[in-house]
Amino acid sequence: MPEPILVSACLLGLHTRYDGAQKQDKAVLDYLSANDYLPIPVCPEQLAGLATPRDEVQFTEGDGTNILAGSGKVATRSGLEMSTAFVHGATETLEICRLTGCQTALLKERSPSCGVHMVYRQGERVPGMGVTAALLKHEGIALLSEQDIPHSSSAGK
Ligand code: SF4
Repeated sequence: MPEPILVSACLLGLHTRYDGAQKQDKAVLDYLSANDYLPIPVCPEQLAGLATPRDEVQFTEGDGTNILAGSGKVATRSGLEMSTAFVHGATETLEICRLTGCQTALLKERSPSCGVHMVYRQGERVPGMGVTAALLKHEGIALLSEQDIPHSSSAGK
C-alpha cells in the first residue's frame, strides 16, 4: 500500500504560487513514483485563505522557527505583516498531515511557508525554514525539499 506523503502543491504542478504559476518538478514526480508514495498536495498559503495570485511575501525578521516562537515576521513588499495568516496556514497543513497519516513532507525550497533549508529575508537568500516547515518539524514530521532529490539536469530550479 502506498505511503502517504505531504507535498507542496506547486511542486506537483498545481498553480498555487503567489504569482499564479506552478513549479512542477519531474525529479520530484519520479521520486514519488519510484518510492511508491501517495502524494497529498497542500498549499499552506491557500489553506490560510490567501488569494492566488497574491502579494509576494518574505521574512523581514528571523524565519519560521522564530515566528512560531513569537519573534520573526513575514510581510508583503508593501509592509503588510502576514505572520498570523502564515501560522494559520501552517496549522491547517499540520491538520491535513495528521488526517492523512503522513510521516514525511516534501516541500518547496525557499518559500516563506514551505522552505526547508533556505528562505528569503529582505531580498537575500539565507539559511532558515518556512513557517509550515518549522511547525511540521516541531511536530516530528520528517522533511525534505526538492533540493534533496537528485536532479539529472537543471530542472526544478
Ligand atoms: S505556499 Fe508552498 S505549496 Fe503554496 S505555492 Fe508556496 S511553496 Fe508552493
